[in-house]
Amino acid sequence: MSRIILTGDRPTGRLHVGHLVGSLRERVRLQDSGEFDEINIMIADAQALTDNAEHPEKVRRNIMEVALDYLAAGIDPEKSTIFIQSMVPELTELTFYYMNLVTVARVQRNPTVKAEIQMRNFEASIPVGFFCYPISQAADITAFRATHVPVGEDQLPMIEQCREIVHKFNAVYGETLTEPVAVLPSNAACLRLPGTDGKAKMSKSLGNCIYLSESEADLKKKVMSMYTDPNHLRVEDPGQVEGNPVFMYLDAFCRPEYIEEFLPDYASLDELKDHYRRGGLGDVKVKKFLLSVLKAELGPIRERREAWEKRIDDVYEILRSGSEAAEKKAASVLSDVRSAMQIDYFTDRRLIDAYAGR
Ligand code: ATP
Ligand code: MG
Repeated sequence: MSRIILTGDRPTGRLHVGHLVGSLRERVRLQDSGEFDEINIMIADAQALTDNAEHPEKVRRNIMEVALDYLAAGIDPEKSTIFIQSMVPELTELTFYYMNLVTVARVQRNPTVKAEIQMRNFEASIPVGFFCYPISQAADITAFRATHVPVGEDQLPMIEQCREIVHKFNAVYGETLTEPVAVLPSNAACLRLPGTDGKAKMSKSLGNCIYLSESEADLKKKVMSMYTDPNHLRVEDPGQVEGNPVFMYLDAFCRPEYIEEFLPDYASLDELKDHYRRGGLGDVKVKKFLLSVLKAELGPIRERREAWEKRIDDVYEILRSGSEAAEKKAASVLSDVRSAMQIDYFTDRRLIDAYAGR
């Protein structure tokens, strides 16, 4: 069986370092591993509109931002197909058919949907489209016969829901769709990067992000004003490492060579953590170290982005031809779905066979 990847992001803002560790880095690794037959990366504008219906200009503007972030992070358009969700209308049609296979109660139980409804204060006024987005995500995944979906941890309930839809579809209409698995980052610190404000998740919608394209000046401002252990008031106080976003970022980004280069007084990140726990290590010193690490990680990404910004016509063409290729693939799966559901009337004469006595 072919090994196929489908993954994507909502164009609700520029991509941030949570995306980098949660999903982008993994995508680049899988892309370059040569172990996959196909890699499809989707800019999910239709999904972004489910909670941004009144801000189409925001979604439109961020299409190019996300595309530039992909290319800057190392997605290679020669190896991966980058496309725009709404330019593949087959996905909408699949969503419509899958809606019949999912109960309202099942979507209401989806923990990610619950958390996101709460985060957006939607409790009493959930747009139907937003409520249905797990179903549309199942359409996106199955339309490419994806076997692997690299995502952050918050997306696991979505993949589970997709697998249920695949089972149900295949049980009702016959073996047609392919079941995917989620691919999570192997480093536990990367599963869900917290915000700079200490909130559980860095998220474009919460404004607590460090963006991939951050200028050095803004990066410095953001790192130096990050939330840390609120009880670590004086340098000599013992500090808490667990749940402290500065150390969580170090867990996600620090490589041994950064300790050697920027903090030669310490043998390892663990030694730095022990010092913080004991007391006598100030937040400013740890933050300065994190700043050096992030500068080293984001510098090459920023440079690649600047180079692609000068080739914006090429980026536009990558999206156009990628969307065209994606539509071809999705159309072939949609045709299988229609024939499994027996709604392919004009390619299937069974509709009139009964009358013709055949
Ligand atoms: P929004 O606030 O608009 O939902 P977002 O920041 O949550 O934006 P998405 O486009 O919804 O970003 O997520 C894209 C991918 O990045 C998903 O696979 C998601 O799991 C992953 N991801 C997003 N935020 C983080 C994070 N803080 N840590 C790890 N992975 C993340
Ligand atoms: Mg999200």
